[in-house]
Amino acid sequence: MQDETQSLKTDIKSLLPEELTQAVLGMGESAYRAGQIFRWLHSGVTGFDGMTNLSKALRQKLSDAFYITRPEIIKKQVSAVDGTIKYLWRLSDGNSVESVVMSYEHGNTICVSCQVGCRMGCAFCASTIGGRVRNLAASEILDQVIFAQMDSGRQISNIVMMGIGEPLDNFDSVMRFLRLVNDENGLNIGMRHVSLSTCGLVESIDKLSDYNLQLTLSVSLHAPDDETRSRIMPVNRRYGVDAVLAACGRYFDRTGRRISYEYAMINGVNDTVRHAHLLAEKLKGTGSHVNLIPLNDVPESRLKPSTPEDMKRFIAILKQQGINVTVRRKLGPDIEASCGQLRRQTEKTGLV
Ligand code: SAH
Repeated sequence: MQDETQSLKTDIKSLLPEELTQAVLGMGESAYRAGQIFRWLHSGVTGFDGMTNLSKALRQKLSDAFYITRPEIIKKQVSAVDGTIKYLWRLSDGNSVESVVMSYEHGNTICVSCQVGCRMGCAFCASTIGGRVRNLAASEILDQVIFAQMDSGRQISNIVMMGIGEPLDNFDSVMRFLRLVNDENGLNIGMRHVSLSTCGLVESIDKLSDYNLQLTLSVSLHAPDDETRSRIMPVNRRYGVDAVLAACGRYFDRTGRRISYEYAMINGVNDTVRHAHLLAEKLKGTGSHVNLIPLNDVPESRLKPSTPEDMKRFIAILKQQGINVTVRRKLGPDIEASCGQLRRQTEKTGLV
């Protein structure tokens, strides 16, 4: 539980290296000490007393001014099928979020959450059912990587921001998290090993392009026309398909990074021949890539996955039109670890 004094203190792990240095210099200490503290924090130390190469007096000064976030594992499920791990974390205020660690031949990927709940309201997604409770701090996003790595003993090499929440709806903390996780004195995970997925918030895509990051931007398109997309993604009423695709075009022009489009195949909703042709027409010449996701079953939703035949037909049309297309593999099927299945367990099980 959050101690009462915590609200008066600063979240030290959310500080960027230069901010931490400033704070430490302000305490009359050296920049060298700030570097030591930064490394401790990013290696998962949970209290100032654990920073054994600092003087007792400095540790006391630090704990008077700052607090260190530390998630607790409420539940850990390991898939018997493929070793995928799903963590349910309790945050310091009692809220909870999930992360998933997936192992591939080329390394381990973590899927992290960036908000408690989500306010985007997509009809097929479990994360949005209770709405958005709050944004995560940068430290709380980072903690998922640090503590999953420590607990699992698996070195994390890739990050996908595809867990609970809409990253561009928590823009500042997400940018801060990316700087921190990329820092050579921290986890040092390169931007090319990060994917950020958005439902398509146009102004924020433009803002992101200003940062010129080498990450992969994934856009949840799920339909090539406004009528279909608005039915399943309420955000489409604010930013329609053409506005989102135009923002993606600007993003590519400014960063040189091709967009990856996510498309969840929903039976009878977005998987017809007409949808396939229209999608191909809209993406032609962009060099973009479409990642089809067979819809995962969310019991609260009436939407069902497309049949294998309809998927095959859809893929064939896209290929014929020269669009790069892949089908996302489903990992952790026995532990509900797939896209759209992460949610606040509190509501479902009353665990917390
Ligand atoms: N808010 C971000 C991240 C969400 S989760 C976004 O909208 O992109 C990552 C992906 O899973 C998104 O493409 C999302 O649309 C998709 N998804 C959500 N629920 C799903 C479900 N039931 N089956 C398949 N994909 C789903």
